[in-house]
Amino acid sequence: MTDDMLAEKKEMLIKHLVKAGHLRTERVIQAFRRVPREAFVPEHLIDYAYVDEPLPIGEGQTISQPLTIADMTEALEPRPGQKILEIGAGSGYQAAILAEIVGSKGKVISVERVEKLAKETRQRIAQLGYKNIKIVTGDGSLGYARKAPYDRIIVTCAAPFVPEPLKEQLKISGVMVIPVGSWLQQIFKIRKTAAGFEQKSIGFYQFVPLIGEHGFNP
Ligand code: SAH
Repeated sequence: MTDDMLAEKKEMLIKHLVKAGHLRTERVIQAFRRVPREAFVPEHLIDYAYVDEPLPIGEGQTISQPLTIADMTEALEPRPGQKILEIGAGSGYQAAILAEIVGSKGKVISVERVEKLAKETRQRIAQLGYKNIKIVTGDGSLGYARKAPYDRIIVTCAAPFVPEPLKEQLKISGVMVIPVGSWLQQIFKIRKTAAGFEQKSIGFYQFVPLIGEHGFNP
């Protein structure tokens, strides 16, 4: 597929996500325009980069479906200058979308459990020139205390419950978006207030499991 065809498919996908109400804010739409999803999928799947489907990225993991990424990014309410923690870096695509939004004064820290994926993704984001993304190898169910607290936390794998360390590492008035459940998962949008946590479901989705100390057993 030629670059022109990819560009056309990308624009069609974005228009579809806008029309269907998944992409709603200009900042998020612009981020979708700027990030080349074809750079985050395996080479033999490049033709499918702008099909609204999750795709395998190796090690039994997937790059999330564009619709899901749109819904999660909108729910997260990311803003320029924020410090965001992502659990489940995978291909790095979601991190790149967020990096476009937080900009050069912001930071995205993304934790990945699978060493091989973390290494590949580190290389990919360096090649693409994202200086505001840091990929950390480790168990993200523990969060990343070294850079806490965070304005926003996004978990891109399904947890059995909301990990306590993530609640602790979120700033007051911060937002966390996290899929919870074991077979079909609901994505919860959680806001931390001085009085506690406000939680609402944004719908049902399917994710690979969060495996770790505050997640599912290996
Ligand atoms: N955000 C990714 C989606 C990746 S799928 C993207 O845009 O491509 C979810 C990822 O979570 C997988 O790569 C999986 O290895 C990772 N994961 C699972 N449990 C984890 C844990 N405890 N800590 C960090 N990453 C984890």
